[in-house]
Amino acid sequence: MSKSINGTGVVAGVAYAPAVWVRPRPDMPQPGASIAEDARDSEFERFQQAAEVVAGRLQERAAEADGHAKEVLDATAGMVKDRGWHKAVKKNIAGGHNAEYAVVGATDKFVAMFESAGGVMAERTTDLRDVRDRVIAELRGEEEPGLPHIDGEAILLADDLAPADTATLDTTHVKALVTELGGPTSHTAIIARQLDIPCIVAAGKSLREIDSSTVIFVDGALGTITTGADETEARQAVADYKVRAEKIAQWTGPAHTKDGHAIQVLANVADGNAARLAAQSQAEGIGLYRTELSFLSANSEPSVDEQAKVYGKVFDAFPDSKVVVRTLDAGSDKPISYATLDDEENPALGVRGLRIARDNESLLTRQLDAIAQAASQRSDDAQTWVMAPMVATSTEAQWFAELCRERGLVPGAMVEVPAAALMADTIMPHLDFVSIGTNDLTQYTMAADRLSPQLAYLTDPWQPAVLRLIQHTCIGGADNNVPVGVCGEAAADPLLACVLVGLGVNSLSAASTAIAGVGAQLAEVTLEQCQEMAEAAIYSPGAPEARTAVRALLDGYNS
Ligand code: PEP
Ligand code: MG
Repeated sequence: MSKSINGTGVVAGVAYAPAVWVRPRPDMPQPGASIAEDARDSEFERFQQAAEVVAGRLQERAAEADGHAKEVLDATAGMVKDRGWHKAVKKNIAGGHNAEYAVVGATDKFVAMFESAGGVMAERTTDLRDVRDRVIAELRGEEEPGLPHIDGEAILLADDLAPADTATLDTTHVKALVTELGGPTSHTAIIARQLDIPCIVAAGKSLREIDSSTVIFVDGALGTITTGADETEARQAVADYKVRAEKIAQWTGPAHTKDGHAIQVLANVADGNAARLAAQSQAEGIGLYRTELSFLSANSEPSVDEQAKVYGKVFDAFPDSKVVVRTLDAGSDKPISYATLDDEENPALGVRGLRIARDNESLLTRQLDAIAQAASQRSDDAQTWVMAPMVATSTEAQWFAELCRERGLVPGAMVEVPAAALMADTIMPHLDFVSIGTNDLTQYTMAADRLSPQLAYLTDPWQPAVLRLIQHTCIGGADNNVPVGVCGEAAADPLLACVLVGLGVNSLSAASTAIAGVGAQLAEVTLEQCQEMAEAAIYSPGAPEARTAVRALLDGYNS
């Protein structure tokens, strides 16, 4: 009998193969007896040797890898050799701890430091713990944790994957990724998206009931992991998906439904590099340039000229197209030293995005000046649209729009606070466009932290409550002749894209790797079918039911 576990599907696709668990992390060492004073130097040497072996292995793997994988492996090897970390271990050993326990203490210290720095630094704590585990395993003579050797095909299961594990994943063997923890924006999800293999995160503790070598069927769009699936049906589903993958490979854009209803498909980028990559995809332009990501490590505010240079690099990748620049979305999980308050109890509900400019308008106007300066170098055909994050009231929308118009910029707002969706009719008249940020709109609608793995079932943009707010926004847009886009992760899900178009969305902006999948899917359905799918989704009792209902309709249209 088949049995399914539900997680959060973050990359669509299906796979059928034996499960392989990533080798477990070692048990954490306990303090143990004190090391005699005259044995402490050799204990430290034992640590150094173990660290050298681990670093050597990572470097060997780095030498065989290239691009991003090489960078990740080199960086992890660098952490193993980090002098500050060695010094902290030495200090702990000098205090009488054995090497294993000294490694734990030293790592905890660095983890705390990285966590208090927040942002990108906080995300690197996974790497630190990974380094700790590898060295402890080596000290104990245990197998190195992480990826096992895989013969044939496998679906990788893990609590969460470390960057050093995912950096060298070979997709001829690894057909899908499933993790117990993680969320839609976790490292595992990002890597899976890049590799374009099905991925499910936040599958929960039940995942542990699946042993290595159990054959499982994974559906990345539905977020289901099934044991005991009918082999013939599962293999058929994989074969059908291959046909779909071919259609995706052949899709050239621009995007429209089967009956010719055009939907602009754009790319989400963080900097000039990502924009250049996007320019190689079918993206018609950029639908979300997250400017704050360029300044996460800046200690002071870059000058207008410096900022203009940074923005210019993104504009250069799309010289004649639309580029939607989002003003600084600092705060919450993206702290920026020169912009964010550092003493907030609840930063996701705090002074983030446009709210920062309320007491510091010149920070915003300097950014707008820089955007206008960079935009003035663009061709006459190029459109430069600018939107504010976290707009909650029509007063904020009006204020932002005036600042943009004074500088000849096209003003818009993100709809990611439920209040903005509910007040769409009063917000729209001030603006030339809006773009729905489904990541935050979902978090705030469902009152569920978007980074919480336990709440991933709520932070799912298929939640009918979220879809209804999107519908409300689209009605406000249509009534006021204001185009409505979606630029959250929802726009990357081909099935959900049909629903969004059915709800009245005019453009979709997603990671450039997701664009062809979305475009190819839209080409197979009519606008009326999209509307029927949207209706089914908003009247479903919950997110999984909405997905299943829409999938069933789509299968019906195709049969
Ligand atoms: C969103 O909230 O959906 C969005 C696109 O913004 P970010 O993910 O950067 O918060
Ligand atoms: Mg957001």
